[in-house]
Amino acid sequence: MRTVITGGAGFIGSHLCERFLNEGHEVICVDNFITGSAANIDHLRGNDHFTFIRHDISHPLEIDGPLDNVLHFASPASPVDYLRHPIQTLKVGSLGTHNTLGMAKLKEARFLLASTSEVYGDPAVHPQREEYWGNVNPVGVRGCYDEAKRFAEAITMAYHRYHGVNSHIVRIFNTYGPRMRLDDGRVVPNLMGQALRGESLTIYGDGLQTRSFCYVADLVEGIYRLLFCDFHDPVNLGNPNEVSILDFAKEIQELSGTHSQLVHHPLPQDDPKVRRPDITRARQLLGWEPKIDRREGMRRTLEFFRKKVEGEQRAK
Ligand code: NAD
Ligand code: UDP
Repeated sequence: MRTVITGGAGFIGSHLCERFLNEGHEVICVDNFITGSAANIDHLRGNDHFTFIRHDISHPLEIDGPLDNVLHFASPASPVDYLRHPIQTLKVGSLGTHNTLGMAKLKEARFLLASTSEVYGDPAVHPQREEYWGNVNPVGVRGCYDEAKRFAEAITMAYHRYHGVNSHIVRIFNTYGPRMRLDDGRVVPNLMGQALRGESLTIYGDGLQTRSFCYVADLVEGIYRLLFCDFHDPVNLGNPNEVSILDFAKEIQELSGTHSQLVHHPLPQDDPKVRRPDITRARQLLGWEPKIDRREGMRRTLEFFRKKVEGEQRAK
């Protein structure tokens, strides 16, 4: 099978490239490195079944030959990144999704859209089931990401209903693991990086807001199953084990053995107060649920960041 993965040089995308190669696919990775990096895919470059195309997928792309699968993962994903690149984020969610859907339609390939729990906004229903339509502020600072992904879902369903594209939509909840950028601004790299450098751990607001963290290997397994499943409505994938940011920071303190203190910073605008996936649909449809608990996932991720921080310190 030939599989295109946009955003393949990013955190999740690079793990997907690896998984599809291991499954025997020929993988074509498309990325413009706006938030990803060549280092994430360097180890795949020697593989005859791996091709990299440097391209901004908000512009059309023609790929020669047949394709079986198109996975659209290109998009800034960290709040810090998408606030830095709001127009690029809106373009890759709208024009980029249009272009990749056009590619899937032309090649009669399966399509999978990386959507997000952010389509639920600051949710008034908890935990979040796929039937919930969300509580998004379209003109707030997060609107560039949330509305781009909501548009992406809408155009995907339109291509499915009107053109018969064999499409799938995964709503990803906070996922973490090796190959996140140390400076991407998300809570996992921020707090782990700070703990490893002996700096204060930054808690935004009172830290009582919650998130539910899924280890990347679990997510990739769910995505692989969803792509080959005959189901077209959105499916939540995430780990339902919910934790407050304050407790999460304390777990990082303990796991890293740091003596760093916690310091409170203002809560960013429209920061969701709670987030936890209802994964009943994924359980029933895919027989999927996360296998790696937070302690184990955090231990693996901390080891990855430890090497990065040591590299940083050697370079100084
Ligand atoms: P990431 O920033 O590490 O990866 C995104 C990749 O897309 C990067 O390599 C970036 O360079 C590339 N990209 C962005 N715009 C592009 C464009 N116009 N053309 C080509 N490449 C482009 O982020 P991630 O965490 O790996 O997220 C990957 C996808 O999963 C995103 O679509 C994101 O919205 C979605 N998602 C992630 C999470 C999470 O917790 N990690 C949660 C919900 C949704
Ligand atoms: N957060 C924090 N300290 C940080 C970074 C983030 O307290 O250094 C909080 C942030 O306000 C949010 C949660 O951690 O409530 C998760 O933030 P992240 O940027 O990882 O992603 P989000 O889930 O908000 O998209």
